[in-house]
Amino acid sequence: MVVHWRKAQDSLQRLAAEPRFGLFSDFDGTLAPLAATAGQVQPSQRVLQLLSDLRELLPVVALISGRSVAALHAKVSLPGLVYVGNHGLERLEAGEVRANPAVQAYRPALQAALQALQALNDEGTHVEDKGLTLTMHYRQAADPQAFARQHEQSVRRIAAEQGLQFFTGKMVFELRPPVEIDKGVVLRELVQTHGIKAALFMGDDVTDISALRMAGQMRQAGECTAWGVAVQAPDAPEALEAAADWRASGVEDVEDLLAWLLAARKASST
Ligand SMILES: [Mg+2]
Repeated sequence: MVVHWRKAQDSLQRLAAEPRFGLFSDFDGTLAPLAATAGQVQPSQRVLQLLSDLRELLPVVALISGRSVAALHAKVSLPGLVYVGNHGLERLEAGEVRANPAVQAYRPALQAALQALQALNDEGTHVEDKGLTLTMHYRQAADPQAFARQHEQSVRRIAAEQGLQFFTGKMVFELRPPVEIDKGVVLRELVQTHGIKAALFMGDDVTDISALRMAGQMRQAGECTAWGVAVQAPDAPEALEAAADWRASGVEDVEDLLAWLLAARKASST
């Protein structure tokens, strides 16, 4: 079992004293207790105040969640935080919702593929531009099977030429960027884009494991002094603690950790 964060106060103290210290956290089950439905989950006034106060003193406070960015923001609504939703596909930063930069980089390829696909259009088929993916619908074609047989190789070739992945679905061809995004990838991107030298990530569930592991990898590579906290819950996955450096014993304990960091930050900045 990894040690409780209170036994790691020397390391936490060094984090709090680093000017480029960034705080990164999951939301549900980490900063707010789980409830019967996602809609019923509510962060406490105390945690909102702590996040707000920490944001005043830290270059980045980021929430990384599986919720849509809109649903995540609706629960917290604090200005100045970075909100990352859909496990990293979208984020709200400085008032703007944006696609993940790794996906964003494929926009020119998607545009080129869109034009090439439109040239294949036949009566009853159309190409839907979903922004981050393209879908060619052929359900309404005169003979859908014939259309699919005739054009699948061409669509595959267009995807390959643009470096996109090809998928088939129900009466559709789909092209998507070959980007694997998880919370670990997001954590590293945020650390890099914000010039973060020391970081803490907190999470309670399976999807947080990638970020806890990434914290350790960045620390060992000397990229960033990053540490991970596993938030314990009765049904927490075993691999969560194995990937973490320290543990917290629930949402209230996370609040205590945030209060401790805030006090340490204030003490180090005066
Ligand atoms: Mg969670």
